Amino acid sequence: MGVTEDELAEFRDRARQWLTEHTGAPVPPEDVATAKRFQAALHDAGFAGITWPAEYGGQGLGQREQLAFNDVAKAFDLPVAIFVVGLGMCGPTLVDLGTDQQRSRYLRPLVRGEEIWCQLFSEPGAGSDVASLQTKAVRDGDEWVLDGQKVWTTVAHLADYGAVLARTNPDVPKHSGLTMFIVDMHAPGVTVRPLKDMTGRAPFNEVFFEGVRLPADSVIGEVNGGWSAAVTMLSHERVSIGAAVVRRSDPLAYSVLAATARDRGVQGDPVIRQQLAELYARQRALQLFTARLRQEAHAGIAPGARGSVAKLVGALNQAYAVEVAGSVAGTDAIAWEAKNSAAAERAVGMNQAPAAAIAGGTSEVQRNIIGERILGLPKEPSVDRDVPFRELKVGTQR
Ligand SMILES: Cc1cc2nc3c(=O)[nH]c(=O)nc-3n(C[C@H](O)[C@H](O)[C@H](O)COP(=O)(O)OP(=O)(O)OC[C@H]3O[C@@H](n4cnc5c(N)ncnc54)[C@H](O)[C@@H]3O)c2cc1C
Repeated sequence: MGVTEDELAEFRDRARQWLTEHTGAPVPPEDVATAKRFQAALHDAGFAGITWPAEYGGQGLGQREQLAFNDVAKAFDLPVAIFVVGLGMCGPTLVDLGTDQQRSRYLRPLVRGEEIWCQLFSEPGAGSDVASLQTKAVRDGDEWVLDGQKVWTTVAHLADYGAVLARTNPDVPKHSGLTMFIVDMHAPGVTVRPLKDMTGRAPFNEVFFEGVRLPADSVIGEVNGGWSAAVTMLSHERVSIGAAVVRRSDPLAYSVLAATARDRGVQGDPVIRQQLAELYARQRALQLFTARLRQEAHAGIAPGARGSVAKLVGALNQAYAVEVAGSVAGTDAIAWEAKNSAAAERAVGMNQAPAAAIAGGTSEVQRNIIGERILGLPKEPSVDRDVPFRELKVGTQR
């Protein structure tokens, strides 16, 4: 028997009350200590890991509570950005595929924000076609030895652990010889270097592995079953990116841009009104669509390729929001008084927005998936599916 309406209303009230007392002005991304304290307190209050199993530190509740919490949280600024990869991708993958020992060891500190996780898939020669990756792990007695380079790794500079995808058998076709491992980001042989994006911030990194030793029990899922583990993680990623809570102070949120239009006295402009109405409709439609995907997931219906719809629409909405931001802010979008922190935040948001069409799989790739798996269009030609990886010309392999 699920939660009753009364219980759900009480849960919402409790969440609203707690968030009112424990959140305030946005916390700057570099303030890791405050973010960690917040996440632990959120867990103690019963609002972190809402749908995760109780024996592994979750709250053991359902999707309805999760949706209710997300809905309430929209009105607040939660300093949880550094935990998004762990909570939205690595954790759910461990819940699905981890051994009991892995779940007992890693999930509780992850959900409490005590340990930060990153996802190490992309490489300089393998992004959209991630199955072409060249980082390798070679078995040596009871351990594996990891060598290679990853790139664009979000929060690697703060991470304690990562989920890394490596090649464990080059003699079979590219999708068949991969394995996913848990890697200790503080282990000898791991080097993390920051990469700046066009906002001037460095949210991601390049990561080098040189002879990093991984214990045999660090495999997530099956040896050489890494592709299926990666697909599991990417499906969580697409829903979680699409569903990302629009923060109260998100400079590209409908409500923030509408307030800017009022402040600048342009809310009566018919073109701007039209744009704001369209942005509201698009952002709201995506929220409802991802809410439905989550409810269905709870009922045992996998999001499948519809996760790609959420991801694609999220990126299109971001691009449209940049256009609307340009209209409502006018010349303030380009140059502003130093004391105008809202304009500075908006500029950061506008410069970050294009990443939404790349991170987590590009919009072109999402369109391919939607075309093939939802619309039933012909598959893209693939000439290398049955060729042993060793014989392919990919990355630096010639
Ligand atoms: C902000 C941000 C954060 C990220 N965080 C992480 C992270 O934490 N961990 C991680 O592993 N990676 C991360 N990435 C990397 C991301 O997953 C890759 O950038 C993405 O998969 C694209 O790969 P690529 O950059 O190598 O581009 P490429 O794959 O080289 O693509 C180049 C261009 O070709 C197009 N293209 C490629 N293949 C096709 C095709 N089959 N059909 C049509 N067009 C195609 C692409 O759409 C793109 O326009 C992050 C990226 C960004 C921007």
